[in-house]
Amino acid sequence: MKILLVEDEPKVVSFLHKGLTEQTHSVDIATDGLTGLRLALSSTYDLLILDNLLPGLGGLEVCRQVRAQNSSVPILMLTALGETDDKIRGLDAGADDYLVKPFAFQELLARIRALVRRRHDSPASEILLRLADLTLDPSRKLVHRAGQPVQLTAREFALLEYLLRNQGRVVSRVDILEQVWETSFDTGSNVIDVYINFLRKKVDKDFTPKLIHTLVGMGYVMREE
Ligand code: CA
Repeated sequence: MKILLVEDEPKVVSFLHKGLTEQTHSVDIATDGLTGLRLALSSTYDLLILDNLLPGLGGLEVCRQVRAQNSSVPILMLTALGETDDKIRGLDAGADDYLVKPFAFQELLARIRALVRRRHDSPASEILLRLADLTLDPSRKLVHRAGQPVQLTAREFALLEYLLRNQGRVVSRVDILEQVWETSFDTGSNVIDVYINFLRKKVDKDFTPKLIHTLVGMGYVMREE
């Protein structure tokens, strides 16, 4: 895989560079936000790893600008303890996942595998998933509502795909964590609620009928009501 690492702490850079190249990944490094953004937009990467606090341009802004170019490259944000608000802002800016420093290298690898697997998972021959006037094309990674294209991040797409495959069925937060985040470890955060809100804004807010429904204490269900 070709990975862009945007990080200004020399220790973290050398630790990640060493670990990732040992895993046979090719790693480009930027130590400030502007250089990171320029590289991210000028080359094709399989993954961006973005530190939050960077000289020049912050990680959130880099993330936002990459997404503004309609890139769906998986983005993993690194945040320091105490920047918890920035996690949510990072997700809002279009990051697919975040990791709090300090973290174990194995944890980083697990997140990377999950992000990339989700992206390449779908068999090419799969047919459209459909509910009312919402369609999702698993192989071409396209979503339309009422004929209009809907731009989703990799994680939002995976969540919507999971909900659509289970349409009419109530899925719990635990189901979603296991199937979409591929972890049964509840970080105690409201990350799923945050993502459901992102999806609602993009898929339901300006349309009728509403398709994503919350069942208090039970989970979520997608159906036409
Ligand atoms: Ca930093």
